[in-house]
Amino acid sequence: MRIDLHTHSTASDGTDTPAQLMAAAARAALDVVAITDHDTTAGWDEALAARPAGLTVVPGVEFSCVHLDGEGRRISLHLLAYLVDPNDPPIRAEWQRLRDSRRVRGRTMVENLAADGYPVTWEQVSGLAAGGSVGRPHIGRALVESGVVPDVDAAFRDLLSSRRPYYVRKPDTDVFEAIRLIRAAGGLPVFAHPIARRRGPVVFDETVAAMAAAGMIGLEVDHPDHEPDDRAHAAALARDLGLIATGSSDYHGTNKPTPIGARLTDPAAFEELLAHSTARRPIGDSSGR
Ligand code: AMP
Ligand code: FE
Ligand code: FE
Ligand code: ZN
Repeated sequence: MRIDLHTHSTASDGTDTPAQLMAAAARAALDVVAITDHDTTAGWDEALAARPAGLTVVPGVEFSCVHLDGEGRRISLHLLAYLVDPNDPPIRAEWQRLRDSRRVRGRTMVENLAADGYPVTWEQVSGLAAGGSVGRPHIGRALVESGVVPDVDAAFRDLLSSRRPYYVRKPDTDVFEAIRLIRAAGGLPVFAHPIARRRGPVVFDETVAAMAAAGMIGLEVDHPDHEPDDRAHAAALARDLGLIATGSSDYHGTNKPTPIGARLTDPAAFEELLAHSTARRPIGDSSGR
């Protein structure tokens, strides 16, 4: 069983449409794929309509969160919300707020870049986002198209990362409030890339323990942004806290080099996820439960 539980489409900052994402999953011989766009369920219907026979689709969302820790650090973190009710009013309202603030923040970053002479416009960036959740990768692509940088990775390194002056914060959701919202909407919260140090500061183990106590059920242990020793640490932490350990590619089409299916979730871990009392069924699941 080949199971990839974290991928993006054009509903956020991936470059495959949801239908193309399903085709890519089939080409990579996946048995199970989760579509997890940032702060939106907008890609689900197209993905499910295009689902190839034999592929199980787990609808999910990657929820943009923040944690202010005891040392006054402001840490950005992402929660995967699997099998959440897309019609739950409170969580829909929160995701709408996040998408609106992504537009305001994207526009501010573009204006700051343009003011310093970088040839990039909001029309270009919002056109690339095509109505989906706007993110820094769209600004990165615009900078590639304008010849400023050779690729999106270089755009992040030189201009867009949280360590660069053009970075503008988004007003993301407090992570404990997000866990509560996901559980209240019947979803299963899993901490995405918990130790991705190249993106910025990461939370202490104590915070992960508090998140588990608040209802989080899993840790994305195997992720392209985890160094081997951090992956080992995440695995040990999952074991100690009784959390389900997942693995995923975090595929973004041509916006990132990682191919779909490059990291996988153990079938036993996937079974554990589905065994959760609140879990809705994925689509196309042949296990018949
Ligand atoms: P945002 O959600 O707008 O803050 O942008 C963060 C997104 O940028 C995340 O989904 C990452 O997957 C993506 N990202 C972060 N670093 C890079 C990079 N070096 N190259 C391409 N995408 C990146
Ligand atoms: Fe992304
Ligand atoms: Fe993420
Ligand atoms: Zn992601």
